[in-house]
Amino acid sequence: MNLMLLNFNEKELSAEIKEMSLLEVRNVCTQCQNCKLYKKRSNVVFSDGIGNAPIMLIGEAPGADEDASGVPFVGRAGKYLTELIKEAGLSREKDFYICNTVKCRPPENREPAIDELEACSKYLESQINIVRPKLIVLCGSVAAKEFLGKDLKITQARGKKYMIAGKIPATVILHPSYLLRNHSEEPNSPRWLTKHDLLSIKKFISEN
Ligand code: URA
Repeated sequence: MNLMLLNFNEKELSAEIKEMSLLEVRNVCTQCQNCKLYKKRSNVVFSDGIGNAPIMLIGEAPGADEDASGVPFVGRAGKYLTELIKEAGLSREKDFYICNTVKCRPPENREPAIDELEACSKYLESQINIVRPKLIVLCGSVAAKEFLGKDLKITQARGKKYMIAGKIPATVILHPSYLLRNHSEEPNSPRWLTKHDLLSIKKFISEN
């Protein structure tokens, strides 16, 4: 991600302008053939949620359910994420704009390749510039590494506060697919930590 391209300025955008601008980017993205992933996609998975949301959650890449529906985080991991959001007293519909680092499904759910991340980064940068969230939540290690550096260790990074491009507060949470493989709810287990991370996110949003 070339953070220099982030062009976040102080001027407020109305909710209506945000939706119109996002629609323009979505229309371009829907036609995209800038990397090989377009060849096998059923749908481009651009985003879910309102452009004026306080929280922008960035995941990794669409899976099979997302490719089939065109909506991010609707499969098993997405449903679990939605449950955790609700449990923390947040609303997926009102509080979140949700998207991914890449908008087309990588085959067999492999991690997106560097050229695919690079080809898609202009869409993600545009989404950030338009939404201008109060907080970016990097969900999982692919999204976190894209913004915070390839050497990042997700278990050390989660729950911490960062600044993206010196301007946008960000934090990291564990990916719901990882949580689905780790069932324990004991104190300090991945699920327990994520529940607390989401409560901190709620607190941050209500105070900022
Ligand atoms: N995992 C992701 O990272 N994103 C999705 O949209 C679905 C599953």
